[in-house]
Formats: sequence, structure tokens, C-alpha cells
Amino acid sequence: MTLVKIDRFTIRKNPNAGRTEFFVPGIPQGSISVRFACHPDILKERFECFKQMLEADECVLISWKCDNSMVEIDAALHPGIDAKAVGDRIKKAIDDDPLLAYRSIKANWEADVLRYRTLTPDPDFLFRYVPTVVECAECHERFDYSDLESDEIDDDIWSDRVCPKCHAFDCCELEFENLTQEMTAAVE
Ligand SMILES: [Zn+2]
Repeated sequence: MTLVKIDRFTIRKNPNAGRTEFFVPGIPQGSISVRFACHPDILKERFECFKQMLEADECVLISWKCDNSMVEIDAALHPGIDAKAVGDRIKKAIDDDPLLAYRSIKANWEADVLRYRTLTPDPDFLFRYVPTVVECAECHERFDYSDLESDEIDDDIWSDRVCPKCHAFDCCELEFENLTQEMTAAVE
């Protein structure tokens, strides 16, 4: 059995102590609007071409207009897709086409703020553990306890002490020191 001790010097008051509600930024969601002009004879064909290009770039077309000599496309991007990179590619494609003149390309990012609740209030104190070497009972490799991995087999055998070298489950015995009042008494 290895005892993983609390590093006394890392104990500090948690600014979020007692909180059960947190706000985090969600995955950025991009949108893009493309406007370009060309001769009416090639309008339809170029529109289809850029529509396909946007769709290949993980965009979902929201609205489009293709009349007279103007193409107007507004599209939303799947979460996490970089709107600016897509905008740059579209702009380059328009620049490279001598028959097109572009009016504007706007690429925007927006991220929702997500609210989540925790079942237990955030702890009063935060701390780290002292780096502690453990040994795998199977292959006898020695490594820091934080290198242990977790894994499961068929949903019902789970271990958070998987050897990073030989992948043996429950490869060592660990005990984590508990925070005591004596340790936190002097923490401001
Ligand atoms: Zn091992």
C-alpha cells in the first residue's frame, strides 16, 4: 500500500467554495456569409460550385440568393469548425477566379455560455498531492501515481489504476491522504 500525501504548501482556499453552479463557454459556433458578383451567364454554375465548397467545409446553408449578377449565401458551421479558415478558403477561391468579383465575406464566431450544476458543493480548499512513485505488481515498472491510467472491459470491469506500461488492471495499491482541520487551520 502506497500513501499519496497532500503537499502542505499547495493547500489554498477555493474561491468557488460552496458553489454548485458554474458557467463555462460552450464550443464556438461559426457562421459565414459570402457575397460575390459575376456575369449572369455563369451565375448558377458558380453558385452551385461555392455551395458545394461550403458544404464540403462542414457548413449548413441557411439562406441563399442567386439573381441578377449577385450570389448571397449565409451558412452556419458545425460546432468547432474554424469560421475564419473557411472564410479564407472561400475568399481565395473567389480571388483565383478571374470571372468573379467579391463584395464581402464575413466569418463570425459565437460561443454560448453553458450553465452546469454539481451534485456536491465545491470544496472549501484546493490542494495537490506530492509526486509519489508506485510500482506495478505485474511488470515492476516504477512511475509516478499520476501516470496511472483508467480503463474498462465490457462496461463492468473498471480500474483507475491501470499500469501505463503493461496495462495490468489494479496494478498497485494506493491510499490518498485526507485533508484535516490541522492542515487547513493556517491557510488564509
Ligand atoms: Zn505493469
